[in-house]
Amino acid sequence: SNKDYNNTVVLYPSPAMGHLISMVELAKLILTHHPSLSITILMTTPPYNTGSTSPYINHVSKTSPLIHFHHLPAISLPLNSTSSHHEALAFELLRLNNPHVHHALLSLSRSSTIRAFIIDIFCCVSFDVARQLGMDTYFYFTSGAASVGIFLYFPTLHNTTTKSFREIDNDTLDVPELPPIPGKDMPNPVLDRFDKAYEGFLYMSMEMPKSKGIIINTFESLEQRAIKAIGEGLYFNPPPPIHCVGPLIASADHNEGREEEKQCLAWLDSQPTRSVVFLCFGSLGLFSKEQLGEIAIGLERSEQRFLWVVRSPPLDEQMKRLLVAPPEPTLQNLLPEGFLDRTKDRGLVVKTWAPQVKVLNHESIGGFVTHCGWNSILEALCAGVPMVAWPLYAEQRFNRVVMVEEMKLCLSMDELEGSDGLVSAEEIERKVRQVLMDSQLRERTMEARESAKAALSDGGSSLKGLDELAKSWTS
Ligand code: UDP
Repeated sequence: SNKDYNNTVVLYPSPAMGHLISMVELAKLILTHHPSLSITILMTTPPYNTGSTSPYINHVSKTSPLIHFHHLPAISLPLNSTSSHHEALAFELLRLNNPHVHHALLSLSRSSTIRAFIIDIFCCVSFDVARQLGMDTYFYFTSGAASVGIFLYFPTLHNTTTKSFREIDNDTLDVPELPPIPGKDMPNPVLDRFDKAYEGFLYMSMEMPKSKGIIINTFESLEQRAIKAIGEGLYFNPPPPIHCVGPLIASADHNEGREEEKQCLAWLDSQPTRSVVFLCFGSLGLFSKEQLGEIAIGLERSEQRFLWVVRSPPLDEQMKRLLVAPPEPTLQNLLPEGFLDRTKDRGLVVKTWAPQVKVLNHESIGGFVTHCGWNSILEALCAGVPMVAWPLYAEQRFNRVVMVEEMKLCLSMDELEGSDGLVSAEEIERKVRQVLMDSQLRERTMEARESAKAALSDGGSSLKGLDELAKSWTS
């Protein structure tokens, strides 16, 4: 029958934009190197703000017609969530998706042979569904190998203390082959031991090693130590197979034609080489008005050029939980009086969104103040742009520790002591100057850029990682 010839890989991303983009890039990589496989992406239809995905999906459908999107029926919002973390909600919602996932997998397997089911970490709640159908399930981890390590080790950490990580404040956690991790720098949703999000991640951490393998968006030379430690079973024994296939980053073309894009690029065209600091904080980063004021003053005093993406502060709890998108900011009211006018010759403030990949690859960019989302980190490394780490949510504080202490590929934006996370204008002024001037940091970043390229070139470590995987799907 036809069926024997139609080997399919089914990908199941979680609804967050960064996770979706990363998985689409994985799909493209598989199709490029193993064109005999077909790819289906299961799309969740969530009832809350994840940034609008439909223009993006339309674009991918046009430019990569071999990727099939299978849209699952809408799920409704559980109203009884007690967690303050949006991650807990994601686990809950994706669990409600299970009947749809089951149905989709069954119907897909009628027309093709599903050789692999690759799930985002939040979709770990569907592992059982695939298990019952006898499917080989892989995790796709959209952060680095060090993060995989910390999660594989999470059940061990859980069992060695009765405290929440948040309370292990003045002390650090000892994790094999990682720098000492201050308790508060553990991934944000696991800081509170009694939260639903903690429970969800603990479950994920225990499911991950039972999978057929973990596919990681990183490359060998970037995270040698962590990759080796995973393989040696230092975090979990017996170690799950891992496959490093990165860096997979958003292709620069998917936002073509947006108004912000023209504005940013035209402005950058008129700035000197490597003179501009870019400040951008992921798809969800929000600051209070007070913090925005400190950033403005710091930028002004630094006397450097800047491109700054500004969003409205969160208005209420709903918004803090990322259920509702913030409104367009009114810059005049939000920023210190006269700031825009005084800096208009050397600064550009854009509202809400900038075409990050294109901006980072523009020759006028000399530094990047980032929230340390893993995609942003990889995008900056691939563009050879030195970074200052200003983590805000998810596992970003942990990423900062690794990027600063282990890889030495980031400066750190340090919070004002005893301030509940406020970064002062003085600190911003200092780090903005430093990131533009630190020639050693630039050199290390350029080296990382070269090895990133090599990993995805012929014979490179990430293509080997992919080949190993795909061999078992096509044989
Ligand atoms: N991004 C962008 N413009 C923005 C903010 C974000 O293009 O103004 C893109 C960025 O290039 C990256 C993604 O959104 O690909 C954010 O992913 P990341 O993992 O860095 O952070 P997350 O949003 O998942 O926290």
